[in-house]
Amino acid sequence: MTIYDMAREHAVIASSGAIIGWDQETYLPPAAAEFRARQLAWLSARGHELATSDAWRKALEDAESADPGDDPKHTANLRELRRRFDRATKLPTELVARASSASSLAKHAWAEARKNSDFAAFAPHLRTLLDLAREKADLWGYPNEPYDALLDAYERNTSTAAVAALFDSLQGELTAIARQAVEASAARNPSLPPGPYPVAAQQRLNAEIAAAIGFDFNAGRIDTTTHPFCTTLGPRDVRLTTRYDESDFTSSLFGVLHEAGHGLYEQGLPAADFGLPSGGSVSLGIHESQSRLWENHIGRSDAFWHHWYPAACREFPQLAGFPLEKFLGYLRRSAFSEIRVEADESTYDLHIILRFGLERRMLNGTLAVEDVPDAWNEGFAALFGFTPRDDRHGCLQDIHWSMGGLGYFATYSLGNLNAAQLHAAARRDPAIAAASDRADYAPLLAWLRENVHAHGATLDPADLITRATGSAPDPQPYLAHLRQRAGY
Ligand code: ZN
Repeated sequence: MTIYDMAREHAVIASSGAIIGWDQETYLPPAAAEFRARQLAWLSARGHELATSDAWRKALEDAESADPGDDPKHTANLRELRRRFDRATKLPTELVARASSASSLAKHAWAEARKNSDFAAFAPHLRTLLDLAREKADLWGYPNEPYDALLDAYERNTSTAAVAALFDSLQGELTAIARQAVEASAARNPSLPPGPYPVAAQQRLNAEIAAAIGFDFNAGRIDTTTHPFCTTLGPRDVRLTTRYDESDFTSSLFGVLHEAGHGLYEQGLPAADFGLPSGGSVSLGIHESQSRLWENHIGRSDAFWHHWYPAACREFPQLAGFPLEKFLGYLRRSAFSEIRVEADESTYDLHIILRFGLERRMLNGTLAVEDVPDAWNEGFAALFGFTPRDDRHGCLQDIHWSMGGLGYFATYSLGNLNAAQLHAAARRDPAIAAASDRADYAPLLAWLRENVHAHGATLDPADLITRATGSAPDPQPYLAHLRQRAGY
């Protein structure tokens, strides 16, 4: 078998795991949960075994020593397969097992600690997870600091120092924009007419809109879950999920727009290369750029709602007589929240800057675990002007650390920045801008297909942005977007 055959076989195993994982989050009857966990663990172990096997190593070496020809895609595939193989095999099986059992213990402890707002109960687990993260980082190797090695799992070839410099340069401006947005929003007193907004009507509208922006229902579905996500079960099978709130139809709709953004990316990847780097997504920061682009840049725009508000009014009679301007004010409302997942566009990145700084200090050993709550509260107060009421609404709110997901948070903000830069670049084409202003997004999607989706994981994220937009990653388009939203 060639390395490509093996990579494709690995994709069969991984996507089978994705199918039963999707089922677990949507339709699985509760009594089946325990056996389902065994099925998932078994498949994941088979996948890991294959991707770290001697046969895999040999096939990769054979491909590397063969004449590469002049196909840049093939060269990029081999380079990325080598990077992934090295990362996977640098960790001994014993360490992988130790990390997995530590994080499953930590997840339970975190859920309990959060419920009781009891950081001390989670602290020993966080210490263990940090030790494990540093142990892994040492084995993977890094140019400057352990965080580099962790970030590389999500955003390859991105330096921590560069992200830190970016966040430092943004913090002042983001804080000023957020204050302005929150003040302007409060003055508008945003509201939505009271529900109920029936689930069946929400489902009709969501599906109509998802199809209109280009989501292919012949190669995908929308189902219901408690925590919305998008998952790919095969080269022509992309599943979105959302949840419904009958008092506010925009909650499921914006969930669908976000996940459909991820889904459009997955549906736009080269299907014939499924399982190879060239047929997969490149990074979380690029993935999130696609969801944020459709959710925020399109979904909260005037043009979008000039077109779709009549359809919403047809589905929900209580909107009749509720002015579009007021509805847009509601969609763009802004407030300082203690909770990241409740934050709006204008305040979101402040939450990320806080987490990134703390993670980095923890990993570098300059912040002790027992000092995390105080450091969180101080950092939060400096950014938001008030202190969270307790650790449950502060340093215990996110699941990421308990899963060992250190180094993850930064990718959310990178996604926001990338979304704005890509959208601004696409709109420099007058035909794309004119069509988008009529809520016809086919030309925009075609641009994303060509400039982002078609590349799969053959380019580093920063190179992809540079090639697509004509300039290196640049925060200015994002700041301009936020300023405009805040009414600067
Ligand atoms: Zn997302």
